[in-house]
Amino acid sequence: MTEHERDDAGAAKRKAMQGGDAAEKKLKAGDTDGEDSGTGADVASHRPAGSDGVDSSDASGDGAGTDEEPKLSKRQMKKEKKKELYRANLAVRRAREKERQRQRKREARLNNVALGPSRKELKRCTMAGSDCRVRIAIDMSFDHLMSEKDLGKCIKQILRCYSANRRAKNPLQLHITSFDGKTKDAMAKHSGYNNWDVYFQPDSYLDLFDREDIVYLTSESENVLHELQDDKVYVIGGLVDHNSQKGLTLEIAEENGIQHAQLPIASFLEMKTRKVLSIVHVFEIVLLVSEGMSWKEALLHVMPARKGAAEKSTAPAPGREACGVADGSPGDADRAPVDAGGPPDTVPAASLPPGVTAQPDA
Ligand code: SAH
Repeated sequence: MTEHERDDAGAAKRKAMQGGDAAEKKLKAGDTDGEDSGTGADVASHRPAGSDGVDSSDASGDGAGTDEEPKLSKRQMKKEKKKELYRANLAVRRAREKERQRQRKREARLNNVALGPSRKELKRCTMAGSDCRVRIAIDMSFDHLMSEKDLGKCIKQILRCYSANRRAKNPLQLHITSFDGKTKDAMAKHSGYNNWDVYFQPDSYLDLFDREDIVYLTSESENVLHELQDDKVYVIGGLVDHNSQKGLTLEIAEENGIQHAQLPIASFLEMKTRKVLSIVHVFEIVLLVSEGMSWKEALLHVMPARKGAAEKSTAPAPGREACGVADGSPGDADRAPVDAGGPPDTVPAASLPPGVTAQPDA
């Protein structure tokens, strides 16, 4: 049965249900007694002009293909009844939800709890008006390395990044780069995306931004990011690879002579698993930090429980502090990130922007 035919059949059912007790009883009988030929005939008599029956492959029981009755299967009838109930209760549910919201607001006011910006206010919180000038780019140049399914997952993560950014009072300057070809086609499934407050860029981040401003975020980097800077562009690899492309983004950053850094996970958390996070988690952590949250809090807030993240309890390994990095010692986490004041001699200057320190992986 086509979608259209199903709708017609559904409309017939609804009409039948509105047609009085007798029709309803028959529907009920159909529900409990299986394919009752009387039910179908009754429904047919209420059918709107122009709907001519049910595809025989979808109709069960006798009479399929005859023009007297569109027989609805037991399952279809149940579905229709459910839809009908859903529609009938919609207004009640909405009223309840509104009341719940009012109640939440009342309680928040009484307890002096800030509720955050309202939806109306959020509409005004655009990237253009944002106090935050930190740029973040999701590099979609890897779409040829992903299956259709993984590209879909990647796009879904971008949707979540956008949604998080949209809810921020001061959103990050979000660019989607190399937005072309397969990525653009996949995104087209999400109608209206071109109205989003996002910079969709067909060009590569390498052509869009000054090289010295680019910091590629990659878990494989030996450098650790501990401060976000307004004049930098932090690039996240738009790649869902199930670990099959280990080290790829680091390789690319090194090949192109651009700076790179990992998030300071090892400084603050004990991890049971590897420290490769998903695109959306990296984005959310950067967003929270841009809003003033400490790295530790942001990491704990966002990190998925299955990664087995736990607050670091042990003291940092001796020698680390000599580098002047925020190293997870008590107090570090809550104070503003410190700049190490320049890279150690062993690390090429190109790979260490301010706010990034050289630190061996813990
Ligand atoms: N094999 C891929 C991993 C993809 S994970 C790679 O070579 O990068 C998606 C992206 O999230 C990464 O490309 C990276 O930009 C970012 N990311 C994931 N974990 C990170 C971490 N611990 N620190 C910094 N960036 C990270």
